[in-house]
Amino acid sequence: MQYIKDLACINCGKTFFPDPDKYLCSDCGEKGLLEVEYNYGLISRDWNPRIISENPDPSHWRYLPLLPVNPDSPRPPLRVGGTPLYRNVSLGEELGLEEIWIKDDGLNPTGSLKDRASSLAVVKAGEAGMKIVACSSTGNAASSLAGNAAASGMQAVIFVPRRAPGGKVAQLMIFGAVVISVQGSYSDAYDLSASSIDRWAWYNRNAAINPYLVEGKKTAVLELAEQFNWDLPDWVVLTVGDGCTIAGAGKALRDLQELEFIKKKPRLLGVQASGCSPITRAWKEGKPLEVCEENSLADSIAVGNPRNWQKAIRAVRDNSGAMVNVSDEEILEMMGLLGRKSGVFGEPAGVAGLAGIRRAVREGIIGKKEKVGIIITGNGLKDIDSARKAAGEPYRLAPDLGRMEEVVLKEGLDEL
Ligand SMILES: *Cc1c(COP(=O)(O)O)cnc(C)c1O
Ligand SMILES: [Zn+2]
Repeated sequence: MQYIKDLACINCGKTFFPDPDKYLCSDCGEKGLLEVEYNYGLISRDWNPRIISENPDPSHWRYLPLLPVNPDSPRPPLRVGGTPLYRNVSLGEELGLEEIWIKDDGLNPTGSLKDRASSLAVVKAGEAGMKIVACSSTGNAASSLAGNAAASGMQAVIFVPRRAPGGKVAQLMIFGAVVISVQGSYSDAYDLSASSIDRWAWYNRNAAINPYLVEGKKTAVLELAEQFNWDLPDWVVLTVGDGCTIAGAGKALRDLQELEFIKKKPRLLGVQASGCSPITRAWKEGKPLEVCEENSLADSIAVGNPRNWQKAIRAVRDNSGAMVNVSDEEILEMMGLLGRKSGVFGEPAGVAGLAGIRRAVREGIIGKKEKVGIIITGNGLKDIDSARKAAGEPYRLAPDLGRMEEVVLKEGLDEL
């Protein structure tokens, strides 16, 4: 906290003291999302890329001076962050690119990028003296909050929409959360969580209105920058649901530029599912967000009433970015393609960005010679039903070598 100046309202600019449970501008209400402002002069006096490179901690806490927590606060012992980056030539060829890099954030402790935010939520809850943390989520924010709460000895209360995939709900139960499956949409789950949090004064991990959580999500891009030796690719690609992840990316780039760790900022490509793309629409039309239906199997980004659309659009604009939409068919195709070409297993919302890249290349938004980095945001094991749709079923065979021979011929294994 020694490096934080204040919390600033993105609507009116008014600033506030950074209390752990301060979420919104007192004047602007729901429109007045707050942003954590750092004292960059002080940070660069104490910290630089060389010091970072000497830090043996592989987790995202290696970026502590840029995180809004008290350095002495207890932290969940899970290893969040430190996820690998791979270059993949043949995947690039499939998408029409010479150089693509994949960062597998599905390898976080609970299997998604959300751990970066939930680990902060648990620390902030502890700082606020609270023992119960709550959120509504399409799945990953919930499972990561439950996991990080379990690791910290806190109780999680989770509200999920009816359509949340089984794998994610199973994680919640295993981590010992109290789980409420709201018989309605994600927006219904959000509203019930908001009123319960108000009524019982629990810690609020609803990412969109909690200014500290975007700070956690930004570590994906801080890490990416370090992995690229502070020279990021031309484009960084992310999928967009509530909008906090891409807002976090924008914040990371601002921090890195203010600190002069990077010379140039990459452009941001935000990708939504065509069955639920209110942020793309607001970005394209330059109009306020219109709430829409949630028709996509990419459950983690099917958010009809995203609470962080303003910060998301600002991140895209500030970084000369673009937004595209992709269909569920394209998303399923990419689940299979990524798996076959790289050995990385992403959930639908985790791989939708690949379909976005292919589209952006076809539409001339991304040039073929440009270098692209994509963050695969969630692990495919969370959503087995979609994986089955993407990859089909195995051969079902009697234990008989003759039948096996048919498979060998059909698959062309004799020619390899
Ligand atoms: C939450 C999530 C996103 C999108 O993040 P937002 O902050 O909601 O925009 C993308 N992919 C996965 C796997 C997620 O869990
Ligand atoms: Zn305000």
